Amino acid sequence: MTRATRTFPLRRLLAYARPHRKHIRIAALCSVVNKVLDIAPPFLIGAAVDIVVKREESFLAGLGIVDIADQLWVLAAVTFVIWAFESLFEYWLKVYWRNLAQVLQHELRLDAYAHVQRLDLGFFEDERTGNLMAILNDDVNQLERFLNSGANTLIQVATTVVVVGTTFFVIAPEVGWWAFLPIPLILWGSFRFQARIAPRYSAVRGDVADLSADLAGNLAGIATIKSFVREEHEVARIRERSDAYRASNLRAIRLSSAFSPLIRMAIVVGFIATLVRGGMMVEEGRMAAGVYAVFVFITQRLLWPLTSLGEAFDLFQRAMASATRILDLLDRRPAIESGGASVDISVDTGVLEGELALKDVTFAYAGRPPVLKDFSLTCAAGRTTAVVGATGSGKTTLIKLFLRFYDPEVGAVQLDGRDVKELDTASLRRSIGLVSQDVFLFSGTVRDNLTYGRPGASEEAIEEALQIAEASDFVAALPDGLETRVGERGQRLSGGQRQRLSIARAILKDAPILILDEATSSIDNETERAIQRSLERVAVGRTTLIVAHRLSTVRHADHIFVLEDGGIREQGQHEELVALDGLYAALWRVQTGERSD
Ligand code: ADP
Repeated sequence: MTRATRTFPLRRLLAYARPHRKHIRIAALCSVVNKVLDIAPPFLIGAAVDIVVKREESFLAGLGIVDIADQLWVLAAVTFVIWAFESLFEYWLKVYWRNLAQVLQHELRLDAYAHVQRLDLGFFEDERTGNLMAILNDDVNQLERFLNSGANTLIQVATTVVVVGTTFFVIAPEVGWWAFLPIPLILWGSFRFQARIAPRYSAVRGDVADLSADLAGNLAGIATIKSFVREEHEVARIRERSDAYRASNLRAIRLSSAFSPLIRMAIVVGFIATLVRGGMMVEEGRMAAGVYAVFVFITQRLLWPLTSLGEAFDLFQRAMASATRILDLLDRRPAIESGGASVDISVDTGVLEGELALKDVTFAYAGRPPVLKDFSLTCAAGRTTAVVGATGSGKTTLIKLFLRFYDPEVGAVQLDGRDVKELDTASLRRSIGLVSQDVFLFSGTVRDNLTYGRPGASEEAIEEALQIAEASDFVAALPDGLETRVGERGQRLSGGQRQRLSIARAILKDAPILILDEATSSIDNETERAIQRSLERVAVGRTTLIVAHRLSTVRHADHIFVLEDGGIREQGQHEELVALDGLYAALWRVQTGERSD
C-alpha cells in the first residue's frame, strides 16, 4: 500500500483539485450565502408578528418607523431584497458547482486515460478491461454526481447549524438547548451510518466492475460463443454477475433507506420540545410572541435539512469510493520508465544504423518460468534476420523486448549498442515498424488505419505501400475504396486482408527497422511470395526481423536463428542449416513434403 492510499480519499481528491481551489471556494461561498439568506424568512415572519402584536412598540418602531403600514412596507422591501439575493446566489451556486463537476470529471477522465495509456503492457495483462472501463466511466460519473448536488448540501447543512445555533444561543439559550437536543444523536447516527455503508458501496463498485468486465469480454468474443453454442451458459454467467450486483446494491439500499426515518424521529423530539417549552415561556411572559414564532419556524429550518444529510453522505461515500479507485489508478507507476536519449530515426542521416541485439538476456513473465535464458541474438544493421522455432519458444517475446514492452531481469536489450533503457521509448518505438501477430485495426476507414503511423501521408505513398503489401487490388474492389469502413477491430475484412493492411500500415510508417511477426500467416502462398518479393525491395538498407512459422518465408534471410527451450539451437543461412541436418533441416523436410526419418 502506498502512502497516498492510506490518507483520506477527500484529502487526496482536494490535493488533486488544487488548481481549482479558487473555484471551489467561490462555489462554497455561494452555498453559504444562499443558505444564510434562506434562513431569513422565519425572522421576517417573526418581525411581522412583532409588528401586529406590539404595534408602536415593535422592533421596527424602535428604529424610528412608527406607522404600522410603513413598518409592513419596510418589511416587504427587506423581504423582496433578501429573496432576490437568495435567488441570485442559488443561480450562482448551481452554476459554480456544476461547472466544477464538469471540469473535474473531464480532467480526471482524461488524466486517468492518458495515464493508463502510459502504463506498461504487464499492467494490462493483470488488469481486466471491464474494470478499467468502470473506473474511467462509472467512477468518474459518480464523482460528478456528488459535486452536482451533494457537496452543496453538506455545506448548507453545516451553515444552517452554525447560523441557527448562534441565533438560539444569543436570543434564548434556555430554548436553544431543546432544539439542539437531537443533533448529537443525528450526527452520531450519521457517522455510524457512514462507517457501515462504506464497505457496502465498495462491494457495489467491485461487483459492477466484474459485471462490465464480463459483458465486454462476451461482446468481443461473440463469434466464439455462437460457434460453441454457449449462449445459454453465458446468459447464466451474466445473470450470476448481475445478481451479485443487485444483491450488493440491495444490502446498501437496506441500510441507506433506514437512515432518514430514524433521523426524522429524532428531529420530532427537538421540535416538540421547542413548541412546548417556548409556548410556556410566552405564557409566563418571558418571551415575546414574535420571538416564539421565529423559534418554532427556525427549529424546522434547523432540523429538517439534517434529514438530507443521509442522502448527501450517501453520495459522498459513493464518490469517495470512486475517487479512491480513480486516484489509485493515477498512482500506479509504469514498470517501464522512458530513458532520455532520443533516437534519430532517419537511416539516411547515418545516425541510426539499426542494429538490434539482446545481450545475455534472461526474461520471465511475472510468476512464470523464464522464456529466454542467458540469451543473446543480434539483428545486423540493414540486413534481414529471421527467427523460427516452435510455438511458445519465445519468438514474439523477443520482439516485445525490442519494443521495450517489457524489461529483462538480467542482460540488456540494445539498439546500435545502446541499452534501450537509456532511450526515449517513444522515439525507440517510432524507429520500428511492426506487423504483429494479432492484427488490430481501429473502427475507422481503410485510410485511417493505413495512415495510423504516418498521418497525412501522400496518396502516392499510400498507393505504394498498398502495392508492396499486395493490397491495392482488394482495396480498390471495396465499396468505397480507401474510405470503406472496416468495422470494429476490422471485422468486415478477411483475416488475410487485415494482415495485408497491417503490412501496408507498417511500410507506410517508413521506419528504419521493420519487424514482421507471422505477418503472412493468413495469406495464401502465391500472394505471400508476391509480398516477399516486394518486401525484399523495401528491406534494402533497413534492419528487418522476420518471425515466421513457414520456412519458405524466411529462406532468403541473411541470417536465421532457430529457437528452442529459451535458447538458440541453430543459426546460419538457409543452405547451411539444411546441410547441418538438424532441427531446421527436419522442419524444412516436413514443410516441403519430403519424408523425414
Ligand atoms: P512464440 O511467439 O514463439 O509462439 P511467445 O513469445 O508468444 O512464443 O511466448 C513464449 C512463452 O511465454 C509461452 O510459453 C507463453 O505461454 C508465455 N507468454 C507469452 N506471453 C505471456 C504473458 N503476457 N504472460 C505470461 N506468459 C506469457
